[in-house]
Amino acid sequence: MKKEKWVTNINCSNLNLSPFIGWKNKMPNLWDQPEVPHKGWQWVNTEDLEEASETCQMCGHENIRYVHYMQHQDYSDTLGVGCVCAEKMSGDYTNPKLREKKLISKMGRKQRWKSRKWNLSRNGNLYLKVEGIIIICFQFKNGNKAGKWGYKVNDAFGKNSYNDVSEAQIASFEDFWKLKDGD
Ligand SMILES: [Zn+2]
Repeated sequence: MKKEKWVTNINCSNLNLSPFIGWKNKMPNLWDQPEVPHKGWQWVNTEDLEEASETCQMCGHENIRYVHYMQHQDYSDTLGVGCVCAEKMSGDYTNPKLREKKLISKMGRKQRWKSRKWNLSRNGNLYLKVEGIIIICFQFKNGNKAGKWGYKVNDAFGKNSYNDVSEAQIASFEDFWKLKDGD
């Protein structure tokens, strides 16, 4: 799978400077604007867009896949930026890379999740035990969800219902990850 190639030997500058990036700066480069703070930004969240589709809102470079959302008390907007800018803006040259690595490992796990060997229980549920966490996908028998699929991760039921079991399996991964990761 194409996406898994990203998993090897990741580092920040490779991501932002990879050769297939077009260097057309459609967005302004805020580093050139003195009224935009250059330091003291706080990290809010990091998101994996699953493809390199975004433009860094700080420097204007394109093809960012992992977006670091940054806030500053003297700037009204939250900026979605690439790893290199996230480092410079926060002065933290460690955690932005680690956050990307974590998202990469999460994506790898997610891709393997469905193809895991799920066990079939006597009553037709699929279940897994991973790192001490039990995941069960089950079909609703009664009520307005009858026929649809749901899941349970340890004691917590998933919020939604799904038309087929594979959707429920994939959805259960996010809850598993949150539980495992504690965030
Ligand atoms: Zn940037």
